[in-house]
Amino acid sequence: MDMGDPRLERVIQACETGLKALLQTAKADVFLYTCNGHGAWEAVIANLLAPGQQVLVAGTGHFSESWAVQAEAMGARVLRTPWREGYPADAQAIEAALRADSSHAIVAVFVVHTDTASGMTSNIAAVRRAMDAAGHPALLVVDVVASLGAAPFAMDALGANVVLGASQKGLMVPPGLAFVAADAAAMKVAAANPTPRFYWDWARRQSPLSYRKFCGTPPQTLLFGLEAALGLIFHEGLEQVIARHRLIAGAVHAAVQAWSEGGALALFVREPAARSVSVTTVAVAEGIDPEAMRTVAREQFQVAIAGGLGPLAGRTFRIGHLGDMNPAMILGCLAGVEAAMRVQGIPFGNGVQHAVAALAGQR
Ligand SMILES: *Cc1c(COP(=O)(O)O)cnc(C)c1O
Repeated sequence: MDMGDPRLERVIQACETGLKALLQTAKADVFLYTCNGHGAWEAVIANLLAPGQQVLVAGTGHFSESWAVQAEAMGARVLRTPWREGYPADAQAIEAALRADSSHAIVAVFVVHTDTASGMTSNIAAVRRAMDAAGHPALLVVDVVASLGAAPFAMDALGANVVLGASQKGLMVPPGLAFVAADAAAMKVAAANPTPRFYWDWARRQSPLSYRKFCGTPPQTLLFGLEAALGLIFHEGLEQVIARHRLIAGAVHAAVQAWSEGGALALFVREPAARSVSVTTVAVAEGIDPEAMRTVAREQFQVAIAGGLGPLAGRTFRIGHLGDMNPAMILGCLAGVEAAMRVQGIPFGNGVQHAVAALAGQR
């Protein structure tokens, strides 16, 4: 399609409107980028943080640490709240760090809503309350790459100033399209940031012209995909989509709990309320090789599961259950994992049976 075609303009409009509805914001501007989630991280850092300025990153696991490392590489001074394995972001530690910053040097607090490596969802409302209790003006910046379209998230109600996401997880679109939503407070911080930037610059992208919005040619195939995906989500109904994710995640958690009776596996996230509805991280006992089991699952049973990331590599495997997912698909996945564990001689309790019970509403 010609990039000046008015039909493309309507698709872009639909993507912006749909994302705002999904994020539940009436206040923020949405900027779409032809990039992955790391690009959205870069956009946020480039707009908000001049070299030498401070950001507080809430420890949640591999993804919070990767974001922190990227901010450091771009010159920011990064403070971290500690991450306790198996536990979500520590709101008390965030409050203490902000209280200690009496000169208000911290520009923003970065929080990953669902840390995809930990399989853990942090309580953003608790983080907002901690920031308010400290009386600190830092911006709240939330990464919803792995939670949007799966877990409840309401940008305005939560008081999030900036939210970022990407196409390929709960949004069910191929990788390559990311977005940032920024409110007026964030736009003000960005306007005062003197760091040279061009491609990522929010002010430059605030234009009705799609060539300006995208700083060049819009990625039309991905935009067509996003429009279709948003249509699927709103056709099913956001509440129904969230309920479906909760049901399917409950089945996976029930299965892993039952598997753990074999003594070799455990749910990595300790607090049940912090277990993600998008992805479940399964810890394996020492002496068990999750990578060998994954290979068997993929090659022999056509079930693709993810490995552990960062410090959890070799100690965990992960089951994704977000986006285009239904009960039959997850039962096939869980049964495939059981078959692979049987091949590998890994002991496990009857997970599929418990997953079936959970799906049947009998738990
Ligand atoms: C996947 C992911 C990212 C990174 O996204 P890429 O598209 O791989 O760059 C960032 N944050 C979270 C929470 C993720 O799950």
